[in-house]
Amino acid sequence: MKIIDIFNEKEITLSFEVFPPKTDAGYEAVEKASAEIAALKPDFMSVTYGAGGGTSKNTVNIAANLQDKYGVNVLAHLTCVSSTREHVKSMIASYKERGIENIMALRGDIPKEGRICDDYHHATELIYDIKSMDENFCIGGACYPEGHVECERQSVDIGHLKEKVDAGCDFLTTQMFFDNAILYQFLYRIREKGINVTIVPGIMPITNAKQVSRSVALSGSTIPQKMKSMVDRFADDPQKMKEAGIIYACDQIIDLICNGVGHIHVYSMNKPDIAAGIMRNLETIIK
Ligand code: FAD
Repeated sequence: MKIIDIFNEKEITLSFEVFPPKTDAGYEAVEKASAEIAALKPDFMSVTYGAGGGTSKNTVNIAANLQDKYGVNVLAHLTCVSSTREHVKSMIASYKERGIENIMALRGDIPKEGRICDDYHHATELIYDIKSMDENFCIGGACYPEGHVECERQSVDIGHLKEKVDAGCDFLTTQMFFDNAILYQFLYRIREKGINVTIVPGIMPITNAKQVSRSVALSGSTIPQKMKSMVDRFADDPQKMKEAGIIYACDQIIDLICNGVGHIHVYSMNKPDIAAGIMRNLETIIK
């Protein structure tokens, strides 16, 4: 089912994310984790795409399996910046062949050692290619409530986002953020610029102390004092830290729902226990 149709049908949805293994040896473990998360019956699951595209077949296989074996709606990610147009087009064709209807169209990070290919520069170009191959794909894009790290001014970033939506994005999923006020301000600014598609907040449960520095390094997201205090208090007790992180994420989600932002995506990172913790706390509210 197309994600945009799920959003039109239900006021509140909850989705989880898995990432594919870097090597074929890790495939079974990821498949097992994906199956356990699928058993929680989220509205859909997303499967990320390895940076550089080296593990692209794992994304297709995990996504198609989730759909065929477990009956879960899937969103398969696809990045373009490190791939040739030929490779990207063959990936789009294999998504279609395997019955995948939803693609998260991304540029991908530019490798530290520099570009290895010059076919794509922005996600917008990928969206045009997907649309040209099949108008019927439901397409998601990424957005950054605190601005993308490469863009110095948020107004410029929002201008590029508008171009991306106009190219054919049906919805946008956000980078992680830990203070909902950041999202509400972002929503105000993008709506003012005529970006009217559904915004899906991406919520990252912080369940161990190391994740904080890793998440900040990757995303540039601001860590509010409330989260710093939580990590400070529970970092040395893994069980308490995990529960506190799940509750923090649920608190964020409930506030979002109360403010009319009902389509929530959780960066569950191949962790069924964390997805289950989120579901346990929210089940009554979202069903
Ligand atoms: P774009 O939308 O192309 O934007 C990238 C930068 O280019 C921005 O600074 C933007 O302002 C600028 N820009 C856009 N258009 C123009 C233009 N016309 N002219 C000049 N500048 C322009 N990475 C992975 O490797 N695999 C994944 O599965 C994955 N999933 C993700 C899911 C989400 C929800 C998010 C938020 C990120 C994800 N990423 C993933 C990370 C993502 O690939 C990086 O953040 C990447 O740096 C940007 O990708 P994008 O699609 O947002 O790029």
